[in-house]
Amino acid sequence: MSTSAPSDRRSPARRVPRTDVVLAADALVEPQHRLGRALVKEVVTGVQQRVRTGEVAPEDVVTEVLAALPATAASLRPVLNATGVILHTNLGRAPLSAAAVEALAAAAGTTDVELDLATGARGRRGRDATAALAAAVPDAGGVHVVNNGAAALVLAATALAAGREVVVSRGEMVEIGDGFRLPDLLVSTGARLREVGTTNRTAPRDYADALGPETGMVLKVHPSNFVVRGFTADVDVAGLSAVVDEAAGRLGRRVPVVVDTGSGLLAPHPLLPDEPDAATALRAGADLVTSSGDKLLGGPQAGLLLGRAELVDQLRRHPLARALRVDKLVLAALEATLRGPVVPVRAALEAPLEQVRARAEAVAEALASAGHDAVVVASDAAVGGGGAPELPLPSAAVSLPARAAAALRAGAPPVVARTEAGRCLLDLRSLAPEDDAQLVGAALRALATTRSAAPAGA
Ligand SMILES: *Cc1c(COP(=O)(O)O)cnc(C)c1O
Repeated sequence: MSTSAPSDRRSPARRVPRTDVVLAADALVEPQHRLGRALVKEVVTGVQQRVRTGEVAPEDVVTEVLAALPATAASLRPVLNATGVILHTNLGRAPLSAAAVEALAAAAGTTDVELDLATGARGRRGRDATAALAAAVPDAGGVHVVNNGAAALVLAATALAAGREVVVSRGEMVEIGDGFRLPDLLVSTGARLREVGTTNRTAPRDYADALGPETGMVLKVHPSNFVVRGFTADVDVAGLSAVVDEAAGRLGRRVPVVVDTGSGLLAPHPLLPDEPDAATALRAGADLVTSSGDKLLGGPQAGLLLGRAELVDQLRRHPLARALRVDKLVLAALEATLRGPVVPVRAALEAPLEQVRARAEAVAEALASAGHDAVVVASDAAVGGGGAPELPLPSAAVSLPARAAAALRAGAPPVVARTEAGRCLLDLRSLAPEDDAQLVGAALRALATTRSAAPAGA
């Protein structure tokens, strides 16, 4: 009688290790984070097929999968944002809501983006996203969506002021970040800047004196990433509206007031009293409001144009609009963002401190019980993304030795923490609660590498 193992006599199909068992192998945890579960699963399926044909032994499946995996993923890797900065520009600003991700994936194939299914005729591109935006800002007579906030400004300046003047306060000539200077952007459209006032003080008279036949638009920019304190004055939207109204008789037209709010707040938010919003600006007399889609709105990268119907129409029909238009993925994600439920950015901003602290305590306990130096500390989180620069958001963080930071970044998935006062802080406010378990797993794996690297006896 043969002594060979019973498995050898089973049909090859019975000896193929199950997909979930293979995917749960320790060696495949990191590749799934790095390359995505779907890709690894596809490779597993291929190797299972080779087991069925007898080409690969069942016990070699994991090794074969590892050998067949690509060395590097597509360049964008998911990371866990434990910086405490809710809108982190280097981490892609707003994380999309689950609803937006679903909508985006659904739109990735062929869609009715420019087709009216009822009639079979060509439909208005992005009508549903625009309808959702119009519904969210009833004060806007017209709305249009372009590629980003900068594109919204370029379109406005080109259509309204190319070859003419943009009147803007010297206190609002801002650099947003990464060398992006708003004045340079405006000048690139062929508009000329007519600077008024001073860095710290600008009065209605300064604007009024500058208005003339050459004026294309008056621009008010929210200096979103800094504040000027002390002997200061600026003119609010209502004040600017009064100035252009007064000049209308003399000029024979009302010069449009364009307000770049930056953040994308559509209505006032009680936690962000100094952050301008579109509805308030329009009610105060702005003719056009521009903003980003991926800051406080919490949606995809996009530029929103909201304002007087005929003005928005003029921009939409401008030849440049075609070069700045958004694709079907952005339209789908934006619509889902606007229709709700609450987006992650808002949830992070509004999470009660006790809740954030309880999560930090649970994470710290998991790490400490594995023998790591992990304690909960109070922390100041921030809105980030060039918004609410002075506003600290009370938060809680897990404090780790400083050397943890590099290991965490090299982990799977990478965790981006904040280094403060010689400690590495994992601030829970910028992380979605459903990612806490992933954070613990990633931190445990990363910290294990720092421990083995520590000198013996340390
Ligand atoms: C962020 C910002 C912009 C640029 O918007 P993007 O979407 O990054 O192009 C313009 N103006 C202000 C005031 C901003 O805060």
